[in-house]
Amino acid sequence: MKAKAILVVGAGFAGAVYARELAEAGCHVEVIDRRAHIAGNAFDEVDATGIRRHAYGPHLFHTNSERVWAWVARFATFVPYQHRVSAWVPTIGRGVPLPVNRTTVNAVFGQSLSTPEDVGAFLARVAVPHPAPRNAAEYLNARIGVELTDLLFRPYSEKMWGMKLEQMAASVVQRVPIRDDDEDRYFPGDRYQGLPSDGYTELVRRMLDHPGIRVATGIAFAREMVRDYDFCFNSMAIDEYFGYALGALPYRSIRFHHRQEPISYRLGGTMQVNFTDDSRYTRQDDWSLLPGHVVRPGDVKTVTREEPCADTDNHMERYYPVKTSDGAPDALYRQYQDLAREEAKIQFIGRCGTYRYLDMDQVINQSLQGVRAWLARFGMAVVEHSPEDQRSFEGITT
Ligand SMILES: Cc1cc2nc3c(=O)[nH]c(=O)nc-3n(C[C@H](O)[C@H](O)[C@H](O)COP(=O)(O)OP(=O)(O)OC[C@H]3O[C@@H](n4cnc5c(N)ncnc54)[C@H](O)[C@@H]3O)c2cc1C
Repeated sequence: MKAKAILVVGAGFAGAVYARELAEAGCHVEVIDRRAHIAGNAFDEVDATGIRRHAYGPHLFHTNSERVWAWVARFATFVPYQHRVSAWVPTIGRGVPLPVNRTTVNAVFGQSLSTPEDVGAFLARVAVPHPAPRNAAEYLNARIGVELTDLLFRPYSEKMWGMKLEQMAASVVQRVPIRDDDEDRYFPGDRYQGLPSDGYTELVRRMLDHPGIRVATGIAFAREMVRDYDFCFNSMAIDEYFGYALGALPYRSIRFHHRQEPISYRLGGTMQVNFTDDSRYTRQDDWSLLPGHVVRPGDVKTVTREEPCADTDNHMERYYPVKTSDGAPDALYRQYQDLAREEAKIQFIGRCGTYRYLDMDQVINQSLQGVRAWLARFGMAVVEHSPEDQRSFEGITT
């Protein structure tokens, strides 16, 4: 059979997984990205202060999937890292753990609850019953009551999403667990957590490093390109592909404000501090507190503050698909999906192609499933790798 020629649009995780699997199955793959770099939103680089900075916000790799882990660990050594977040609460002048746990409840309410049962009973007393929450506000009020909702979630979520808690789908806040014990890790349930020791850009570069793959950055997709290929996997925004014919799918975006601080500077003890009030920023990221991120030690370091905004106010940088309680954006996306079914030679992939917020491990998983199903349709074999192909993980957390 003649080798297939495939165009992959986007050199982020989705595009890189597709490209690698297709090339290993014998296809000729051309990857284009309109940005000047590979790795999509996971792109990182060492800046002038010698700090490795993630250009589009902190990216923490975490997964419970053996399959995803086995796949990605072929391309990088990971250093262990457990993410912790504190919420800066101006009313008490200190940071408290996020997600909400026993320490958070005690600090905010001046309590000394000592067991999970005490915390559960306390939260049950302050909770406002909503047997079938219709939005994020009702969901939170039913879990933790009005005071904690309005202190830790309302101003933060409203500036993050640009709408009232009542307008947000409950699923937006359901991602954040509420704990009754002292667990303060952000992803305690995920077995594999870490950061690629040479950064995400290098990890993705290795994924794309195959004789069957050619990569061109600074090239935007144009419809006529598809003519030269047997098929196109496309991670661009699906509404943009169709010229916004049915209207624009809404996304939230972030403006990143970098500044230099003395290397000894600290705000709270965690890499990420959330600002829960209605001030301009949502989070501060201190890159120096990520393992391996002080690449060239010096006297100063970069600290980044995140200012949320609409994608339309930030050069169409699409970060988070918007989920409203009336489900309107998802309904619009389904209409674009119907249009996409008519495209014989194009499949939409990844975060903006499928209009879902996906973590890196979820994108890898979704992409592995998608590309393997496509290869199977044409009777092309997937190349399975043995565990020896895996590079080392210096610590596995359970
Ligand atoms: C602020 C933020 C923080 C995050 N933190 C985490 C985290 O801690 N852990 C985690 O697991 N995940 C995190 N993620 C999610 C992670 O970024 C995504 O899972 C991942 O980037 C998705 O990969 P993708 O390839 O689908 O999309 P992208 O990374 O967005 O890649 C798509 C690529 O397509 C290119 N493209 C788009 N349109 C065109 C076009 N017309 N022509 C050519 N190229 C085009 C873009 O330039 C982009 O490079 C975070 C995301 C954001 C926004």
